[in-house]
Amino acid sequence: MRRLNWLLGLLLTLTCMSAIAAPIREWSDPYREWIMQIPKSPGDVLAALNQIPPAQLQDPNVIAQHHSALSMVYFALSYPQKSLDNAQTALKYVDREEQPWLFHMTKLNESQAFDIVGTPNSGLLGANAAVIWGELNDDLDMVVNGLFVRGVLRNSLVDYQGALKDLQRAYELAPSAKNLSRGDIAGMLALVYEYRREDALAIPFFEEAAEFHRENENDLELSIALYGLGKAHNNLGNTELGRSLLTQSKNLAQVAGDLQGVAYALKELAGISLTTNDLQSAEEQLQQALDIFLQSDNKFMLVEAYKNMLLVALAKNELTEAERYLNLADSVIDKQNMPIQSIELDETRALFWAKKGENQKAFELLYETVSEKQQLLSQQSTRQLHSLRSQYEIDMKERENQLLEQQNQLQKSDLNAVETKNLQLLLLFGATLIICGLLIIMVYRALKNRARFEKLANTDSLTGLSNRRSAMEKLHNQMELAQRHNLHLAIAIADIDLFKKINDTYGHAVGDKVLKRFGQLCTNTFRQTDVVGRIGGEEFLIALPHTSLHDAENTLKSLSLKVKTLSEQFSQEGLKLSISIGLTQFQQGLSAEEVLLHCDTALYQAKRGGRDKVVIYDKEDPAMLQMEL
Ligand code: GH3
Ligand code: MG
Ligand code: MG
Repeated sequence: MRRLNWLLGLLLTLTCMSAIAAPIREWSDPYREWIMQIPKSPGDVLAALNQIPPAQLQDPNVIAQHHSALSMVYFALSYPQKSLDNAQTALKYVDREEQPWLFHMTKLNESQAFDIVGTPNSGLLGANAAVIWGELNDDLDMVVNGLFVRGVLRNSLVDYQGALKDLQRAYELAPSAKNLSRGDIAGMLALVYEYRREDALAIPFFEEAAEFHRENENDLELSIALYGLGKAHNNLGNTELGRSLLTQSKNLAQVAGDLQGVAYALKELAGISLTTNDLQSAEEQLQQALDIFLQSDNKFMLVEAYKNMLLVALAKNELTEAERYLNLADSVIDKQNMPIQSIELDETRALFWAKKGENQKAFELLYETVSEKQQLLSQQSTRQLHSLRSQYEIDMKERENQLLEQQNQLQKSDLNAVETKNLQLLLLFGATLIICGLLIIMVYRALKNRARFEKLANTDSLTGLSNRRSAMEKLHNQMELAQRHNLHLAIAIADIDLFKKINDTYGHAVGDKVLKRFGQLCTNTFRQTDVVGRIGGEEFLIALPHTSLHDAENTLKSLSLKVKTLSEQFSQEGLKLSISIGLTQFQQGLSAEEVLLHCDTALYQAKRGGRDKVVIYDKEDPAMLQMEL
């Protein structure tokens, strides 16, 4: 029973060991450290990554991690094309089966880069796959990251509704995720609300983002959040608060070395100065912004700045100056790619013409801009429709992917079940083999023991000969054979002479030794088929099948002679050994008792005749006849 428990224990242990180990979702050293550093000091991480000797980049998994990390760093440093290239290199090396987390994370880097290089549509499938994989594998970090990236992409695709859905979910899950905080997601949510011109909704999220970046002392991100917050407050009519926030944003951007940030804030501040009729400040602010936008060749913002300068000039009634800015704006604008800016510039142009007194011309242009605006709006809604349709197709694809992933998982778990079952069968087979082996050993041992017990039960322990019960049984068998086949069978009883005297003279131990030696002598003298047994203290039954009386007499006489020489083996002085034997021939119809009685009669005669003799039973002998009666 204990053995069975042990076997079951073994079976259980092996079954548990076969459970599949969970995949390791970990960056290897030293990338683990560097990935954490990217948000704060991407420049340092880039330097460290570039110092890794090429010899260390042999293992495909390391190469994949290396390029994936590079992709993240370049994204943080605003190098979209390099970020994209590195993500795509990483994807060539990553083993999707072995490190699915790295594959999906890199796909997300690629998707983010696609967004910045202006092809957000190309990133949607990768972001979807990452979200689905994260959900199926309970990888919360991947889900939050995937939702964030997909939200950003949807925002770029003007699917604000979808973007809000993803970002809100990411925002709710973010507290439990490790690598993306609520502050990061809040900033993006605020931007989407801002695009939708829902400033009141954007404000709390901008505030949360600002709070988060302030706590983390990230000036660059804080300046961006404050810029959005200032703009939103200004749009809602909180001019002074807006001005203060935008000024803070401008100063922080200056500290962080973000010149573009400075210019954006200045442009907004100039807008406020214009509405509050502080033309002097407006002009100064716009001039500073213009210098920066000119340096960076930022066409969108240049048009905006020239247009505002034009407005300032108009407010100051400086028509020549106004015309100069109008011409500058015209020289920069790209009507094809800046339709809204173009219409807005025409509106300002109409104002300029009106100011010059060319009212009819101004009116016609204004009229034209109204219809152009309507056209643009309807174009935009057509684009929105297209975007929605492609979104629908992507949703369908997502569902397909989800199904495929689920099927994949199911197949995997089926495969695992089959493997476990096979292992269990194998173990069962092994256990059965062991049990069978044990049974065979047990049966073998039982048989061996039985033979040993039988031998013990039939053997006289002192002499090694058959004991009385066994000797009598064998005699019966031989008598039966002799009776059935009419065969010769000689039967005798041998008795050691004056044995009591040996005991008395030399001790019981010597007596025992004599019995033992006599037993050995018999074993050596008689055949395997002969019957020799100790039937009394120093009395022995001898039955010789297929043996005539004459031959038996000779054999027994030779035994008697050997007994005599046996005394030489004893060191006891004066010890003389001899035996007396009563011999008879089996006769048809006689019982064992009758045969043994004949032996006893002959033996008695031998003793009476002086011992050390072989006497044959003779029923004609009157002495014997008298004895029997
Ligand atoms: P006889 O020649 O007439 O047979 O004389 P005997 O002394 O041999 O015969 P008796 O029957 O008087 O004595 C037999 C003795 O054998 C008596 C008994 O103590 C002794 N004896 C019987 N069994 C054992 C035994 O197992 N060991 C020893 N040492 N002695 C035994
Ligand atoms: Mg005796
Ligand atoms: Mg006796």
